Amino acid sequence: MTLGNSEGLGPIVDRFGRVHTAMRISVTDRCNIRCFYCMPNESVRFLPNKEILSFEEIVSVVEMLSPLGVKKLRITGGEPLVRSQLYKLIRNLVAIPGIEDVALTTNGILLKDQAQSLYEAGLHRLNVSLDTLDESLFERITRRTGLARVLQGIEQAQNVGFSKIRLNAIAMAELTETEIVPLADFARKNNLELRFIEFMPLDAEESWQPGKVLTGAAIKGIIEDAFGLLEPVESTEPSQPARNFRYADGMGQIGLINSVSEPFCSSCNRLRLTAEGKLRNCLFSTTEWDLRDLLRSGASVEAIRHRVRECVEAKKQSHGIDGHDFQRPAKAMYQIGG
Ligand code: SAM
Ligand code: SF4
Repeated sequence: MTLGNSEGLGPIVDRFGRVHTAMRISVTDRCNIRCFYCMPNESVRFLPNKEILSFEEIVSVVEMLSPLGVKKLRITGGEPLVRSQLYKLIRNLVAIPGIEDVALTTNGILLKDQAQSLYEAGLHRLNVSLDTLDESLFERITRRTGLARVLQGIEQAQNVGFSKIRLNAIAMAELTETEIVPLADFARKNNLELRFIEFMPLDAEESWQPGKVLTGAAIKGIIEDAFGLLEPVESTEPSQPARNFRYADGMGQIGLINSVSEPFCSSCNRLRLTAEGKLRNCLFSTTEWDLRDLLRSGASVEAIRHRVRECVEAKKQSHGIDGHDFQRPAKAMYQIGG
């Protein structure tokens, strides 16, 4: 069964009326660090290169979907900056008619060297993941070194012209509490917007438990104790997952992405394309729709759009993490694209 406008150019709408206008595109499952809440430390089996979508294949998927209303893209991974010459993909994506916003999420390790080429390629927005400013904790989390390089990467990105860089930090109990105030202080002083993302059951080592989530409400309390009451900022975009707040002194704002404690599934407008060309309708989806086989067998644009609509039509109302029958996806975050 397909939705009524399945072969036409109508928007991509699911059974609950959610219109899909955004796509997260993973360009690799590889990474240069090993965050324990995402990847295994040892013996990671990465996808062979031939299984990964080429830049041309990614661009052609976006060209097929932008006439259906997909206008916002986020490039992710794995670590997207380990993919050679990523700026070339960005340059081609920003040039596609209808694409209004292309953003990138990176761990920042390779940012210092690539910031200029990414900016010149037309990348609109940059998110850098940073959980701590403490070198020894950084090494405990990532099981690699590199904090100084991340900080240099952020500085360089600002120098070449990126404005409104966001920092993403994990919100994990017994890990994040001590990092909140230093990170907030750093973000405020450096004109960065800090956002905390609740720890989700997508870690390859399967250590997630509900008690390990540090809720956005707890983070808000810690911030308010240190900086005064936070004032909610009205969202201009209903599909925006972060709840944003302004500091009492007007010096910047902070975002809380409460994916576990306050799911925002009802306004989800996102599709996800994995590095090997599978389409997912949710981070927690246990099914995937293969676009790569269609692309490589010369299928028509209509056939590919039809598969995209099938994927979206099967989207569940919510991720159901708190349900008794919740089933983790077989893939971890680095294999899906966060
Ligand atoms: N490597 C890049 C990076 O770290 O920014 C992009 C990919 S990473 C999977 C994207 C985001 O997912 C990061 O901000 C990371 O902190 C977040 N993430 C990874 N595993 C997570 C988990 N189990 N729960 C919540 N967020 C997670
Ligand atoms: Fe790599 Fe990003 Fe996963 Fe950390 S969160 S291991 S940086 S893909």
